[in-house]
Amino acid sequence: MNVLIVYAHPEPRSLNGALKDHALAHLQRQGHAVQVSDLYAMGFNPLIDVGDNRASQPGVRFRVAEDSRQAYADGTQSPDIALEQDKLRWADAVILQFPLWWFGLPAILKGWVDRVYACGFAYGVGEHSDRHWGDRYGEGNMSGKRAMLMVSTGGWASHYAPRGVNGSLDAILFPIQHGILFYPGFEVLPPFVLHRTSRIDAEAFAQACTALEQRLDGLWSDAPIAWRRQNDGDYLIPELTLRPELAPGVQGLDIHLRDA
Ligand code: FAD
Repeated sequence: MNVLIVYAHPEPRSLNGALKDHALAHLQRQGHAVQVSDLYAMGFNPLIDVGDNRASQPGVRFRVAEDSRQAYADGTQSPDIALEQDKLRWADAVILQFPLWWFGLPAILKGWVDRVYACGFAYGVGEHSDRHWGDRYGEGNMSGKRAMLMVSTGGWASHYAPRGVNGSLDAILFPIQHGILFYPGFEVLPPFVLHRTSRIDAEAFAQACTALEQRLDGLWSDAPIAWRRQNDGDYLIPELTLRPELAPGVQGLDIHLRDA
């Protein structure tokens, strides 16, 4: 199988760097082909701008989504965007690896999503009408591929428990897992998370590597998070609200789980 690791950490000797190296070596030992987009090492430009469409004309107003759609369709995208899209097409599974920074993605990885997820590639896909609101949330160009987050946090597991002061990790990761991964069609596996990173000594690191290996071995067999697909009939269209008879009395992000 083909695995793409999109990795965001500025220091190769970091904990994340060591885990990335371990994941790469383990996957290769198992016979998988692996590509790593090491965003800092690549000097990846995270800023969307008018230059992302090589056919843009001087003085013409930059329309972000429309320019993205046109450049994608016409083959005039900036080459660094097209290259990352090729890697996504190639991959059977994608791992986004990052330290949690301010409750979200490091800016360089968010910028990778902003630029690589072009209109027509990751959004704006399929029929858009009052009967069908695009191929998304379980459908789209990433259908058939799997994805998983590899995240480290300074906070403890209890800080991210359902009653933890930081808010539950499921809720914090929802925009990434549901919004960035499930939206274009990935099947999303539960995240691999390392908490309380400042306390990770050699022994804890070895345990983390063993746990990581198990998760990597389950990339094709572990059950994905069971979110409802947009176009399977659970949502009213075009309102795109969950049908009132489903998950009665349940509020919040959990309503999107099939067994809510
Ligand atoms: P490092 O700092 O590189 O290492 C962590 C520990 O692992 C060190 O003690 C190191 O000795 C040890 N270690 C053990 N084995 C190895 C090995 N083989 N190689 C390298 N190191 C090893 N945390 C939150 O919970 N929520 C937040 O919102 C949040 N926001 C942040 C925002 C910023 C800007 C920053 C800088 C940090 C934030 N943090 C937050 C903390 C952050 O998530 C952690 O610092 C990060 O996850 C640690 O990962 P690292 O790879 O940088 O670890």
